[in-house]
Amino acid sequence: MNLNELENNWIKGFEKPVIIAGPCSAESESQMLETAKRLKESDADVSVFRAGIWKPRTKPNGFEGVGVIGLNWLKKVKEEYGFKTATEVANAHHVFAALEADVDVLWIGARSTVNPFTVQEIAQALRGIDKPVLVKNPVNPDLALWIGALERLLGQDVKNLGVIHRGFSTYQKTKYRNIPNWQIALDFKHQFPNIPMFIDPSHICGNRTGLAGVTQEAFNVGYEGAIIESHCNPDEAWSDASQQITPEVLADMINSIQIRKSDISGYEDEMGKHRTLISDLDFQLIELLSQRMKISEKIGTLKKENNIAIFQPERWRIIADYAAQKANESGMSHEFIEKVFKAIHEESIEVQNKIMINK
Ligand code: PEP
Ligand code: MN
Repeated sequence: MNLNELENNWIKGFEKPVIIAGPCSAESESQMLETAKRLKESDADVSVFRAGIWKPRTKPNGFEGVGVIGLNWLKKVKEEYGFKTATEVANAHHVFAALEADVDVLWIGARSTVNPFTVQEIAQALRGIDKPVLVKNPVNPDLALWIGALERLLGQDVKNLGVIHRGFSTYQKTKYRNIPNWQIALDFKHQFPNIPMFIDPSHICGNRTGLAGVTQEAFNVGYEGAIIESHCNPDEAWSDASQQITPEVLADMINSIQIRKSDISGYEDEMGKHRTLISDLDFQLIELLSQRMKISEKIGTLKKENNIAIFQPERWRIIADYAAQKANESGMSHEFIEKVFKAIHEESIEVQNKIMINK
């Protein structure tokens, strides 16, 4: 069996989009129960209550989670408020303790997904279970590693799977804590439309103000759910305080988001027409690119015969300026056009490189 064949019927038992919410970390029984109570009373439609019991922290000597005692609090949350529960597992001991405490959904954190030994250990500890297991993207932008983690789980007959898009680390200073790199998540979604994808806006943003926008973007492209950190007193949270929101703020946010359907019945004709036009244009774009590359090859030959360097900075500037001007005139974003032309130019250099090396 391969990942494409998974049915993932587990998701059908949930209201869509599935909202998983709760504190970054379990801190005390009262913090857990108060957060759960307020989530229940709000109209955020939360179906799964999350809380980290063991916390992978960047530096030592900080708060590393309350440990197994927190599993009792998760149990109480389930008994008193009827939520399903979820926590992160990062080794076999965590798995055994979480299963023993009947946690309903387990997830593998971003720092674990990067390590095949860790994932293998977790997968073996989970062998054959039918509880849903969600795999966060690895901290580094590596799609194969993300898919590999799911394959390790499937290899141990864990067949109820999902993924969480929590963004990727970067050394650059950006408005995100972890840049979303939507393309990687969307590539995943295209390859495995049968594997439910959750957005984790909390760890992407690292702040409260960006959460709604990122969640909306994810729902616009058909994500099945969201995992969002919510705490009864966010400013006092022991971990990730700056990105947590109260249950009431969470409810307002969820209600402000437009949930889009992925079912297009009723619009097939209209959609069909537009899609045909788009396919036609895509075809023309490919034809044009192919013609452009053929001309590039001719230039490559000329450069080779005359011993001219492939990359001519002046030439790239002319192309980039022209593209920027055209982007302005046609009302498209400058960044978008620059990205497209950079990609074309890079490929063109690649084509010329091959000519230089080959003949
Ligand atoms: C978390 O969800 O609290 C967490 C530690 O996330 P990540 O693995 O994405 O850093
Ligand atoms: Mn967190």
